[in-house]
Amino acid sequence: MSGGLAKKLILIGFDGGNPPFIEKFTKEGRLPNISRIMKEGVYSESLPVMPCDTPTNWCTIATGAWTGTHGITSFHIHLPGEPLDKVHFSVRSYWSKAEFLWDAAERVGKKTVAIMWPVSFPPTCKSGVFIDGTGPGDPQWRLGHSVIFTTRPVGHRADRPVTLLKAEGWKNLPESYSQPLETVIDVSGRAATVWTEKGWESLQTGSSENLGGPSIKHYVLVVDSGGSGYDKVIIAREKDAAEPLAVLRPREWSGWIYEKLERRISEVERRFDFRELPTGIFEGYFKYKLIDLSSDASKFVLFRTDIFMASQWAYPESLTKEIIKNVGPFIEGLELAQPTIAYGDWETYFESIDMQVDWQIRAAKYLTEKYNPDLLFVQIHTQDAINHQLSRAIDEGNPEYDPEAAKIAWERFARTYEDVDELVGGIVEGCSDEETLIVLLSDHGAVPVYKLSWVGVALMRSGLLTYAKDPETGKTIIDWSKTKAYPWRTYIFVNLKGREPNGIVEPEDYDKVREEILQAIYSLNDPETGECPIALAVRKEDAAILGQWGERVGDVIYYLKPGYTDVDLDRNQAVNLPLEKLRELRDVEPSKQICAHHQFLPTVTYGGMSIKAVFIMSGPGVKKGYRRRTPIWQVDVAPTIAYALGMPAPAQCDGKVVYDFFE
Ligand SMILES: [Zn+2]
Repeated sequence: MSGGLAKKLILIGFDGGNPPFIEKFTKEGRLPNISRIMKEGVYSESLPVMPCDTPTNWCTIATGAWTGTHGITSFHIHLPGEPLDKVHFSVRSYWSKAEFLWDAAERVGKKTVAIMWPVSFPPTCKSGVFIDGTGPGDPQWRLGHSVIFTTRPVGHRADRPVTLLKAEGWKNLPESYSQPLETVIDVSGRAATVWTEKGWESLQTGSSENLGGPSIKHYVLVVDSGGSGYDKVIIAREKDAAEPLAVLRPREWSGWIYEKLERRISEVERRFDFRELPTGIFEGYFKYKLIDLSSDASKFVLFRTDIFMASQWAYPESLTKEIIKNVGPFIEGLELAQPTIAYGDWETYFESIDMQVDWQIRAAKYLTEKYNPDLLFVQIHTQDAINHQLSRAIDEGNPEYDPEAAKIAWERFARTYEDVDELVGGIVEGCSDEETLIVLLSDHGAVPVYKLSWVGVALMRSGLLTYAKDPETGKTIIDWSKTKAYPWRTYIFVNLKGREPNGIVEPEDYDKVREEILQAIYSLNDPETGECPIALAVRKEDAAILGQWGERVGDVIYYLKPGYTDVDLDRNQAVNLPLEKLRELRDVEPSKQICAHHQFLPTVTYGGMSIKAVFIMSGPGVKKGYRRRTPIWQVDVAPTIAYALGMPAPAQCDGKVVYDFFE
């Protein structure tokens, strides 16, 4: 194939991007770059493939394949023959059974640069340049999650309580109008430090981080430099104020701080069977920010960002050093809302997004100049992170809706989209020409949720799923000898003899058990509304109409109605409950989740939000100002791009070219 409409591609993805938000903020004139591309090109909603979650859809966008074809069946993949509660973390390229756009491009001599594109790592093609691609969730680059060292913990998992005491034994103490104070912190965040009669003592926090080895301590000195109260913090490796790693006043960030740390396999990584994970001593880097310091020092809040590895996130690996030198250290971590938000501090969150956007623009420009790619992929995760924080606040149907809180939430949403707009502007300006196809899209949207409805409750009631108490540990376990059906994130697997290691269902009873499963879960009832929370439940063979097939999907597949979620009891969380609690669970319980997406049909709109994704495209041969009446599917993205570039579609592509996008 040759003679495409466009010579180059820039594809920018924003995870969790919501069509109603794009429409609202472009109308309000807040997204000048995105608006311009919409005006010069086409706009459409796009239906995510099911389940409507992250790895599944980023994989589909890059392969053109349905879930059943590429096999990334959710965040976690169950393989036949393995115990039913065993799963594999899916955000790695080797789980995809379908060829990616960059592989198809390589076949015709085209070159790709991909920055933070989920499921792209480790790279499947040799000629490309890949930066990360192992997130969100458990990315390879994260040595430690961000933590907050504080005298006033708020009950967040990131809190590390510290005590401030009279400073002793410091060299080169600076002038202080009040008694200098000190504390010591464990950089890894694995332990909180308090002062006891025996000296500084570490309280293990029991976190399941990747960090092993001896703890690395930083000493913190708090001084009153001007006589109007405590106002300055000095952080150092030794008690020597003349050798500081950082000198911070309230609201100030440190520069990057490097430490050598040991990476081990975390509990999560062990449970989810990660492959080829780096272990050993690695250089890691992070920043501090002094969030708060009251003048009497009773309130001290010091934020330490995620610890990033100074290696292991680029292909070719030699590129890590080159990027750190020429662009600056790689930063991410915004796939999760920062713990500073629990302290009412959104400023730090937005500053972090600004830093990431700035880094991504500079990285894209640097890599474009140096490698001149035909295809450039960039993904940012901030829309999804904020959906998970604020979706309820803007829902006028929320029983606790507060117009003032909604106004603030809308501003925060707008700010996040403005950052993406800046990313789009920076990359398009720095990396495109008139022969470039520009595509902006999201993987899925999100809608607010309020109620937990877990199918396990119905399966337990019908005797299809049985939990027991481990006689030795007292912990809740699955009684496989009495379990016929096991639920896992929109899938229910039959515990089939001959297929499952602990199978009890005879193959001739397979259909009978599936009928029992369907009847059981359709019996779920919300006493408040009288409705059944199940939107749709089908046998595996019927799920072909949903794009789901193959050995990795469940024997029954179900989706919930909007407003309900199963995230609170997803994965292995049921066995973390005491048996009595588990058995007391009702059909519908209050949910702690703010929003959700994977358990809904892709057509769902609810609470002013949508599960549908966004698709915007402009470039040579693309219609101008065209708005599609009906949504495309995510499987159509890759073949449409391939068509525009005059290159072959990926080998297992199921989707079709959306010809009406072109002149
Ligand atoms: Zn996503």
